[in-house]
Amino acid sequence: MQQLNRQYIAGRIQPSRGSDTQVVTSALSGRQIAEGVLGDATDAEAAVEAARLALPAWAATSLDERREYLQNLADAFAARRDDMISALIEEFGTTAATAGYIVDQSQYWFVDAQKLLTESVFTQQIGRATVRKVPLGVSVLITPWNGASWFIAMKASVALAAGCTVVIKPSERGMLQAQPVLDAIAEAGLPAGVINVVFGKGDPVGNVLTSHPDVAKVSITGSTATGKTIAHNAVDTMKRVTLELGGKSPTIILDDADLARAVPFAVGAGLFNNGQACIAGTRILVPQSREAEIKAALAEAVGALRVGDPRDPQTVIGPVLDRAQYDRIQHYIQTGIEQGGEILAGGLGHPEGLEEGNYVKPTLIATSNDRTVAQEEIFGPVLAVLTYRDEQEAIAIANDTPYGLHAYIAAGDLDRATRVAQRLQAGRIMINEVVDAPDAPFGGFKQSGLGREFGSFGIEAFLETQAVFS
Ligand code: NAD
Repeated sequence: MQQLNRQYIAGRIQPSRGSDTQVVTSALSGRQIAEGVLGDATDAEAAVEAARLALPAWAATSLDERREYLQNLADAFAARRDDMISALIEEFGTTAATAGYIVDQSQYWFVDAQKLLTESVFTQQIGRATVRKVPLGVSVLITPWNGASWFIAMKASVALAAGCTVVIKPSERGMLQAQPVLDAIAEAGLPAGVINVVFGKGDPVGNVLTSHPDVAKVSITGSTATGKTIAHNAVDTMKRVTLELGGKSPTIILDDADLARAVPFAVGAGLFNNGQACIAGTRILVPQSREAEIKAALAEAVGALRVGDPRDPQTVIGPVLDRAQYDRIQHYIQTGIEQGGEILAGGLGHPEGLEEGNYVKPTLIATSNDRTVAQEEIFGPVLAVLTYRDEQEAIAIANDTPYGLHAYIAAGDLDRATRVAQRLQAGRIMINEVVDAPDAPFGGFKQSGLGREFGSFGIEAFLETQAVFS
């Protein structure tokens, strides 16, 4: 059995000092394909120490030097593209097309960050004050399993551009995907200690990193429960935190929507990445005046989705991450039924002929917003359909959730859709199409998080502001 026991600390690939293990499985077969050996508290301490020692020299690099190193990272990620894609598909089950998108964007984050490096980001004059933006310091970057390379590159690119040194802790449930990322980082050849990678669970590695006195900043993408623990850990030393957390985003289909466009939009927004996406539009709100027609069209579209081997270019929905994720999704579908929901497409169990591996039936459940399937993040291909009487009620239902990451609106009249958008509590709202916008701010209202990432908002999150009067 292949052992995944490497860490990257102080410029060296070295074996993990910990003894906790992690079973690494294939999403396609459900079988174990590797054993992960996780780091321990000493690995976490060593990584922070390496980042601390590297900080003064890295913070003093010129913008040209930083651009050059960011390009080295882009090139190293490009060289590992195929390895990253195949590991992502094997472990996570996302389709080949989505894996290609995730891995290509991972590389572009390092290119995009170079464009942010202008003098005006770091210095401006306000009256008599010279306002400087200085690197926050050692930054811990904690990432989830739904696309390791993407989250690591998105956070590391701007942290490094800001002049911070970093310790990355990828998810222990994404160890296979993170292996070629670790290789690319080592091959990029940044000065020792500027970028470190430690594998481990929240306890002990995550807790050591997020409460360490030498760490100035923690940026995490993960669940809301984990975000709360990290915020607690960080507060004693007043670390800056960026929390990108869970979501239960609404897709409002307004009564003037053209269904030929609205239905693929709603289904695509809900089931991107096999539904394992924080931004998924998992509550579809339909107007009572067109309820039967829209429900039928949604059911037909979800029922027709091709589920299967994610390497097959015809596949739209692949398997989910692991057995635990499969069981979690089944539990939610069962709960939806027990609470009176009506299954419009999909349902319990594996799709026919796909009994091996973690395949789930894409499922549509008609329910009401107070039910568990409409309130809790499932993180799989399960969509709740909710009916509203009028626009006021649509907005009220859309906002009736502890989350506020994303929202989608399908509409005929764009002005009306824009007015509705302004009343939604969500960090990003997309009207009639899913837009790829890596330079516009990304982040959540309410319990979907704290702070914003991407583009200039991303780099700002790793800078501290100082005003000098002369
Ligand atoms: P998770 O919260 O279980 O884990 C995320 C990361 O946090 C992992 O690396 C994990 O090891 C680490 N962690 C756990 N406890 C910790 C602790 N005490 N200290 C430090 N680190 C700790 O989330 P997941 O299951 O990996 O990912 C799915 C979740 O992530 C979903 O809720 C999803 O919505 C969310 N997510 C959010 C975004 C976003 O941008 N808002 C994007 C993708 C995923």
